[in-house]
Amino acid sequence: MKKTFVTLDQVKEMNQKYPTPFHLYDEKGIRENVRKLLKAFSWNKGFKEYFAVKATPNPFILKILKEEGCGVDCSSYTELQMSDVCGFSGEDIMFSSNDTPAEDFQLARKLNAIINLDDITHIAFLEKVADIPETVCLRYNPGGDFKINNAIMDTPGEAKYGMTYDQMAEGIKILQTKGVKRFGIHAFLASNTIANEYYPKLARILFETIVRLNKETGAVFSFVNLSGGVGIPYRPEEEPTDIISVGNGVKEAFEEVLVPAGMGDIRIFTEMGRYILGPFGCLVTKVLHEKHIYKDYIGLDACAANLMRPAMYRAYHHITVLGKEDWPLDHKYDVTGGLCENNDKFAIDRMLPKIEIGDYLIIHDTGAHGFAMGYNYNGKLRSAEVLLKEDGSTELIRRAETPKDYFSTFDFTHWFDHIDE
Ligand SMILES: *Cc1c(COP(=O)(O)O)cnc(C)c1O
Repeated sequence: MKKTFVTLDQVKEMNQKYPTPFHLYDEKGIRENVRKLLKAFSWNKGFKEYFAVKATPNPFILKILKEEGCGVDCSSYTELQMSDVCGFSGEDIMFSSNDTPAEDFQLARKLNAIINLDDITHIAFLEKVADIPETVCLRYNPGGDFKINNAIMDTPGEAKYGMTYDQMAEGIKILQTKGVKRFGIHAFLASNTIANEYYPKLARILFETIVRLNKETGAVFSFVNLSGGVGIPYRPEEEPTDIISVGNGVKEAFEEVLVPAGMGDIRIFTEMGRYILGPFGCLVTKVLHEKHIYKDYIGLDACAANLMRPAMYRAYHHITVLGKEDWPLDHKYDVTGGLCENNDKFAIDRMLPKIEIGDYLIIHDTGAHGFAMGYNYNGKLRSAEVLLKEDGSTELIRRAETPKDYFSTFDFTHWFDHIDE
């Protein structure tokens, strides 16, 4: 059974200050989870987690992660700006972008971020728009299918990211002539994998690749960036990732491949988003309507604009009706939002307790790629984000959008001046 990290009484009290819907984050859970990750990789002296900002772009969250020793992984101009504001700089920022605009590279260089090049052509582009730093990371795409125990986990051959082995070898030779002294390698080969073997398998591929590149080009590698992709159990029957076992699996590959090659001082980096934050955020919503036609519908005050994953990927998000945790799951509902889009459903044919108007529903596991993927379709406004602190108090860490925010990009007219809330 999946548990919520808040109770009905806590939510009722919060609702007096913050209107639903809102995303709620669990500070204690976040901090404990990061500490577990650091422990799992403590065998590697230079280990660092670069939190993928795109998963939860909130400066209050980033500051918590900074206190726990994380860096940040950015992919755009505004993510770089947010990270800068939060006090990240230099080697605490990984810039893993693709199809990158000139201004983004320029800001990344200004902040002295580590630049992860997505393509061989970006070498000349970076040199033209900024300059080439002494340390450069290259994003690898081995093509084909990515398999674990013969099961296809994802298809890198269909992915737009990274470069081929030959391009990496050629790129390194070019970069060496441009004064690059140290290299890193990065790859993201499968998304949301709860198999504990994902990182160890990926690590082995990257370790073998840098040993080969080192032999061929003489390039000195200083880190291997395993990127993100470690999954979480969205469904109640799924097992959570055993991060200690993941760390040990990477260690085994490290000792088998890198240590004998004399590369035992390589640093391991990760860029997790989902694994770090996913389970420690939820969407708190209230039931507005119920409707009975050919099916039974529960209409919430939240919609896909607050959480896009179910509509976009048909992703499963567990739902708890607060206060009815022990009731029998004897009603079958479609749980919907109010967009004029029939895919705006948080759940389809979900067995839940009998629901009434005014009930509070918790939509689980929205801490990563939740609020962040929000949008304004149908003129829906983005919700607030609230932090449940370690002492049980709450803090507003982003206010909800108002109509004035929505109309703010027409501020060169006077048409909306009379709208103030
Ligand atoms: C999205 C992304 C991540 C984070 O992915 P998760 O699935 O949240 O772990 C890390 N690195 C890069 C380059 C990404 O694009």
